[in-house]
Amino acid sequence: EAKERGKNTYQIYNADPDDKIIRRMKLENGLRTVLENDELRVYYQPQVDLRTGKIKGVEALLRWIHPELGFIPPDEFIPLAEETGAIIPIGEWVLETACKQAKLWQMSTNPSLCVSVNVSIRQIKEDNFVDVVAEIVERSGLEPAYLELEITETLMQNIDASLTVFNQLKKLGVQISIDDFGTGYSSLSLLAHLPIDYLKIDRSFTNGMLEHSNTISIVKTIINMGRNLNLKIVAEGIEEERQELFLSQHGCHIGQGYYYSRPLPVEELDKLLEEQHEAVFTAY
Ligand code: C2E
Ligand code: MG
Ligand code: MG
Ligand code: MG
Repeated sequence: EAKERGKNTYQIYNADPDDKIIRRMKLENGLRTVLENDELRVYYQPQVDLRTGKIKGVEALLRWIHPELGFIPPDEFIPLAEETGAIIPIGEWVLETACKQAKLWQMSTNPSLCVSVNVSIRQIKEDNFVDVVAEIVERSGLEPAYLELEITETLMQNIDASLTVFNQLKKLGVQISIDDFGTGYSSLSLLAHLPIDYLKIDRSFTNGMLEHSNTISIVKTIINMGRNLNLKIVAEGIEEERQELFLSQHGCHIGQGYYYSRPLPVEELDKLLEEQHEAVFTAY
């Protein structure tokens, strides 16, 4: 029964231990050749300006279709890629793909579109990380200010080490975003010490906040604190209109979630951006 499940779903967590090991080996091996075999795709999820209701940016989210195992969720393969080091070339590829795509969208439908790209701590620790970012951005033709790098706070153990890199990134002109904010143990010291532009409230807070008064208080506090520090606040995981209403009424700047759109392949996001582009023209 476990075998059957393992074949067509990714519910590996309660599968036979042997299956897990075999799957892991297949994924590890597969990761070495994902780029040359062209198995990765970047999907883009809109980020909406809560004041205007317009798409102000997109987050790049990786998708892997394994030739034998099918769709592999990033929460499964990114940690593996971090362990093996495969995240280094993969991360560069995502960054390059996303910057080029954002530049194309800026030229066709939305001149001020931003793109957010997730980066792993493992990438940041590479000596040449900032140089690589600079080179890729330059080659893409995108103004650095339209690139936002998202870093998950849970993984950032050494703030001092990150500080130099963050300062260099700021000098380059890119924006820095703390992802999944509130889930790590160092949230507040990060804010005190690092040059940050955006806070992304983790979707576990957005989710169900309206049913839990404690969570509501936390969300309000994050928004207020962020605004006092001159940060832009992004809420992830907005799925319902009433969540959007609450967040915008309490001063959150940007929303992201299934309520607006799931992450989409380029052609589908093309359509959304074109619709908004036309709406702007007909308004005049
Ligand atoms: P993340 O950066 O926090 O991305 C947000 C995740 O929440 C995405 O999952 C997105 O599809 C999902 N999401 C968005 N709106 C909603 C919603 O309304 N409800 C729910 N339930 N989920 C929503 P996804 O695409 O599976 O990515 C998972 C994680 O994998 C990302 O979390 C990020 O940490 C990592 N990841 C994805 N792409 C990359 C990448 O290119 N590089 C690195 N280093 N990590 C990546
Ligand atoms: Mg993210
Ligand atoms: Mg997140
Ligand atoms: Mg995350």
